[in-house]
Amino acid sequence: GDLPGADQVRAVVDDAYQRYRTDTSGTVADYIPVLGKASPDLFGIYVVGARGQSYGVGDVETTFSIQSVSKPFVFALACHQVGYDAARHKLGVNGTGFPFDSLIAVELNPARTMNPLVNAGAIAATSLLAGDTAEEKWQTVRTGLSMFAGRELTMSTEVYESETATNRRNRGIAQVLESYGRLYFDPEAATDVYTRQCSLEVTARDLAVMAATLANGGMNPVTGVQVLAPGVCRRVLAVMAIAGLYELSGDWLYEIGMPGKSGVSGGIVTVSPGKGGLATYSPPLDDAGNSVRGQLATKYLAERLGLNLFASE
Ligand code: GLU
Repeated sequence: GDLPGADQVRAVVDDAYQRYRTDTSGTVADYIPVLGKASPDLFGIYVVGARGQSYGVGDVETTFSIQSVSKPFVFALACHQVGYDAARHKLGVNGTGFPFDSLIAVELNPARTMNPLVNAGAIAATSLLAGDTAEEKWQTVRTGLSMFAGRELTMSTEVYESETATNRRNRGIAQVLESYGRLYFDPEAATDVYTRQCSLEVTARDLAVMAATLANGGMNPVTGVQVLAPGVCRRVLAVMAIAGLYELSGDWLYEIGMPGKSGVSGGIVTVSPGKGGLATYSPPLDDAGNSVRGQLATKYLAERLGLNLFASE
């Protein structure tokens, strides 16, 4: 299958934007102080087809820190480094049912693994990346995510400093993982690379290209570069289906029927395998940390464009 024709996609994207731009529910995250400065009015929707065709409306060129939307892409890089089978055993691939920064989740699982889309598993995934030093691992993240986006991404120093000043909980998670032999690099250094990773600046357009790369078997449809192997790509999508939207991942799959990943700065990526990538940006979040307008717009697009993976026709 393919996306519907260009005129139809453009009309549905515009329609979703008009429908939900006036929704004012949700709260902008401020536990990382600088995130609280984002305007609650920002809203952008971008779609990139698996053949590179693109459609956008609203604030699609506004930059924001990628936060947890980085996690599936860094997991992909970790799989590329150690193989997806080893990555599964080292990181886990099951849902926790607990919030993204839970320590209880680590304590309750006898294997001490979570999945690479919650903070514990994500910091562990970052620790697996290519590079003998923190600087080399950071370059692996930056160049790898830039290949997904098809342009050179850079870090927001303001976000990095704000998060570094307030990330004691993540540093604690890394220390606990290390105590269980479930971290694969120095805990302080791994947390620092993870914090840089979360501070990479993207636009809704960038996220849609990244999602479209996952929709296209790992080949970036805009640049034509094969960023990861199709077998890794499938596994990344499986983990997104299990754990992409925090504790509401089951609700998301039930409603939308596609793998997605949200982040606390307000981004959501959604992947329609073989068809294309969707991205939304809007900072107000629900209680679990998912963009409210982003969920509404994605649900509308999924229904109107016929993207639910579980639909038979
Ligand atoms: N850097 C954020 C943290 O670790 C990411 C949170 C998120 O987007 O889920 O707290």
